[in-house]
Amino acid sequence: MRYSRLLHQLLGKGRWHYWRHDQKSAILQLPLDILLLITDNLALHDKFLLSHTCKALRQVLLQDWDIKLPQLSFEHQIAFWVGLAYTLPNRWVCLKCCKLHPINTSDVPAAFTLVRYNRTVPCLLEISRGIETSHYSIQHYHIQLALKLSRLGNIYQQYLGALMQTFTRTLCPHMRIIGGLMGSRSSKKSSINVIVHWCKIMSPREGSILLKEATLLEDGVELAYDSPGQWVFNSCLHCLTDFAVIISTDKRKAIIRAWHDFGIEGSPLDASWKAHVKAKDEQYWFDVVGLHLDYTHGSIRELWSEDVSHGTGTSHAKVRSVFTKLIDGWSKV
Ligand SMILES: [Zn+2]
Ligand SMILES: [Zn+2]
Repeated sequence: MRYSRLLHQLLGKGRWHYWRHDQKSAILQLPLDILLLITDNLALHDKFLLSHTCKALRQVLLQDWDIKLPQLSFEHQIAFWVGLAYTLPNRWVCLKCCKLHPINTSDVPAAFTLVRYNRTVPCLLEISRGIETSHYSIQHYHIQLALKLSRLGNIYQQYLGALMQTFTRTLCPHMRIIGGLMGSRSSKKSSINVIVHWCKIMSPREGSILLKEATLLEDGVELAYDSPGQWVFNSCLHCLTDFAVIISTDKRKAIIRAWHDFGIEGSPLDASWKAHVKAKDEQYWFDVVGLHLDYTHGSIRELWSEDVSHGTGTSHAKVRSVFTKLIDGWSKV
């Protein structure tokens, strides 16, 4: 076994040292080979944390972190910082700087534009890395902090409340009504016609399937309009978002509700987060249409309904959005 001779010496010294001061320590009573079998299965951030618990374990893990970390790929470095951030109540992982930043309680999605332009966040994040409209932007670290503070339950709870505020005027990158309902449908149809007949990057059949997917929200509103007072439910095919539409009985108001699942505490590079976010070079709504996600439609709405009153509730980040619009604003439904 690697380093076994040296480690036997070091551990022997550590065990003796520790045993002399605290005989209740169990981990340092383990045979070295067994201890190494355990530590070999730890993630790097766990090794880092363990190596900082006492001199003996630092010797056992034997890493020069200043050399080790820069050798990692970008993805592994982010994973390392994500692992550390999980244990640190007031830190979040910055994708741009690839390091941890301190929490800033004035930085909430509804104030993101203000915070960013005032440079009160330590770096200028890419605008395309969140889910946003002009005055609202959820960044990955907002989700991560909400999950962490919800899990901890006893720190920054006011900030957690601000992070969990219901938001309006955005659904998901894949479902957008562009202008009025009729205009939105015809605008999307025209864009797809260009792709099919001019760019020739998909067949007419693929184009009609894409149009069907891209106008799920328009379909939902039209269906709800035929049954005023009744909720019409559907889901996005490309991100974990359930939505529902209702038209008031006087047909003057439409309400669209959405429930989002932004995934678990993890990396901003995780597929569960990336499915919600526009890539940097995507400019048009059809650019964001990607692979279908396999999930039970309606399940996110049901998860939310289970404990609507508690922050994020579970280890998954569930956020609800509500969009209300007067029918007059949509003109020709
Ligand atoms: Zn940064
Ligand atoms: Zn979506």
